[in-house]
Amino acid sequence: MSYQFSQRSRDNMKGVDPRLILIAEMALSITRIDFGIPSDGGIRTAERQQELFKAGKSKLDGYAKKSEHQSGRALDFYAFVDGKASWEKEHLAQVACAFLQSASMLGYKLNWGGLWKSFVDMPHVQLMD
Ligand SMILES: [Zn+2]
Repeated sequence: MSYQFSQRSRDNMKGVDPRLILIAEMALSITRIDFGIPSDGGIRTAERQQELFKAGKSKLDGYAKKSEHQSGRALDFYAFVDGKASWEKEHLAQVACAFLQSASMLGYKLNWGGLWKSFVDMPHVQLMD
């Protein structure tokens, strides 16, 4: 099975570190579960990060605590199962595996939010260097 990014997912990745885009493209070519990139899943301004913080969607306020999304070094994803978006843990974990294997094959160090201790962020990956 082979999947394609929607135009919307492509638009949501614009401005993100090219290494992350390469990783995402390879992940989509090897994954068994389709996935997409949501709005706010790519690069964010400090203003947008602040809005997400105030809405309780992020622990980082964009100013005192910056998100890797502000530097383009982070990417969020959602799984796409049975014709609709899914944030179920097992779906997200399978997509994350595809990201991690792709990063490994390409020689990049990738950090998955699903392994974080304080704030688990299953649909989030970021570059480590
Ligand atoms: Zn994120």
